[in-house]
Amino acid sequence: MEPLHYMVCRNEVSQLGNKTVLIIGGGPAGIQSALEQAESGNTVYLVENTAGIGGERLLYDEDSKTVDFVSPDLEKVKNNKNIRIITNADIEKVEDDNGKFGIRIKKRAIRVIEEKCNDCKACIKVCPVNLWDDEDQGLSFRTAIDFFNHVDPSYNIVKEAPVCQRACPVHLDIRGYIGFIADGKFKESLALIKEVLPFPSICGHICPHPCEEECNRGKVDFPLSIRDLKRFVADIDLQDSCKSKPGMVVRGANKGKKVAIIGAGPAGLACAYDLALLGYGVTVFEALPRPGGMLAVGIPDYRLPRDVLEKEIDAVSALGVEIRCNTVIGKGLSLDDLFEKGYEAVFITVGAHKNQEMRIPGEDALGVIPGVTFLRDLNLGNPVDVGGRVAVIGGGNVAIDSARCALRLGARDVTILYRRSRQEMPASDEEIEAALEEGIKIEYLVAPLQVFTADGKVASLRCMRMELGKPDASGRRMPIPVEGSEFDIELDTLIPAIGQVPDISFLGESSEIELTKKGTIAVNPDTLETSRPGVFAGGDCQTGPKIAVEAVAAGKKAAVSIDKYLRGK
Ligand code: SF4
Ligand code: SF4
Repeated sequence: MEPLHYMVCRNEVSQLGNKTVLIIGGGPAGIQSALEQAESGNTVYLVENTAGIGGERLLYDEDSKTVDFVSPDLEKVKNNKNIRIITNADIEKVEDDNGKFGIRIKKRAIRVIEEKCNDCKACIKVCPVNLWDDEDQGLSFRTAIDFFNHVDPSYNIVKEAPVCQRACPVHLDIRGYIGFIADGKFKESLALIKEVLPFPSICGHICPHPCEEECNRGKVDFPLSIRDLKRFVADIDLQDSCKSKPGMVVRGANKGKKVAIIGAGPAGLACAYDLALLGYGVTVFEALPRPGGMLAVGIPDYRLPRDVLEKEIDAVSALGVEIRCNTVIGKGLSLDDLFEKGYEAVFITVGAHKNQEMRIPGEDALGVIPGVTFLRDLNLGNPVDVGGRVAVIGGGNVAIDSARCALRLGARDVTILYRRSRQEMPASDEEIEAALEEGIKIEYLVAPLQVFTADGKVASLRCMRMELGKPDASGRRMPIPVEGSEFDIELDTLIPAIGQVPDISFLGESSEIELTKKGTIAVNPDTLETSRPGVFAGGDCQTGPKIAVEAVAAGKKAAVSIDKYLRGK
């Protein structure tokens, strides 16, 4: 990209002479500044966020039946050969290279075929989408297409981010990538996804797709299959020679600075990916024998095939990110040691891998295997024997995954016990349906009371029936015990899966990192910086358990903050 001198548009602009000048803002001040700079012999790029330049339109004048513009110099600026006008565009990146600036400008699609548009305005009459008119300072409406760009000249369709995009934690341009798929442009679709999301195939397999819950088409018949469409293009890529290279992302120059990331889960890997693209040296320290966090040890391989996970993690390593497995921070290598070794920022993202206890008598018995431990052992290839009768306690995806895995291990009778009703169950509907189809039983409104053993091993579980009372702090109706409803279930294995919490004990008491009352890491919500300067935290260890793509969003947010922090040092 051509180096530019960068200038945010103001009324008084310094005279540079024989330079390339970027002016951001195509309003009256921007137009005036562009003309002044061009007349001084400079080459000017005038970049405007909206579809047209000219600035605020004055209110329609009833007497003269005209609409005036504040800036009268449109024609002059359009015809000046030293000025290049770029409308409908955003500044994506500014790189300082010893006083010269490299600017990345992204021009949005106008969604109108310019050669075919003859200004007949038929589209304006039929467009059903009304927007506030930004040229009128939001005082009136225009349709989504009613926007004539005086510069090109052409029409633009301008729309706000659709509900699906707003619901996606990383705000993928869903409409854009589905549109490319509809046109058969699979690589373009994937490139658009990868501008934001480094793990399209992983999310294509396991994301609970909050986007689809919001899809407007669902109000008519069914939501679009957004997740499966992403998986479709991502899987083509994984089988193809382009092998998950970043999409249209431009790699930054080497910053000569090192960042340490503690935890190779989705947040840590997403942060590593974005920081590597920005030009930082990144090392990820992972306590487990393989990277991926809960993606690798919490999600069964029938839901997320291991080759998919490995290929998308390989794409992170391919950017030069070093992933050191079997490396436990706190054992021989402390947070202070990382700074002493030259890492200038640290991102803590160790997930929430500690099982919540049931707090009932007998829960330490042999044959009681907490859900996260059970799934981790299975995924790491450790031997697990569940016997013929298994009960799983809980209503989340870990409970469902554990039950379905127990069935695959040969258990003939698997029952999930959940203390509320199906309506309150946090597991995704499709997972619940899949479990039921496979023959897993779900008993609602049941809570465990006591584990009984025989020959030193779990033999049965005493339970109690519940009924629902008033909503609690979570908004869900509270389970209330039904007196005299106790009953026993005979078992070979009990898998409690009632929730996970982070294990932050590795930090030690001298780490200066403050925790919340819930035992998660306290951060500035805007920057994810902890109470210790230069140390950031995000993902499940900061929020408590969430879906993988929310962890990805946290990792990306941390990367932005770490970059700002290191540039300010
Ligand atoms: S990552 Fe999840 S929420 Fe975002 S578009 Fe894909 S399926 Fe939807
Ligand atoms: S129809 Fe659904 S997927 Fe398409 S833009 Fe609207 S909300 Fe998004």
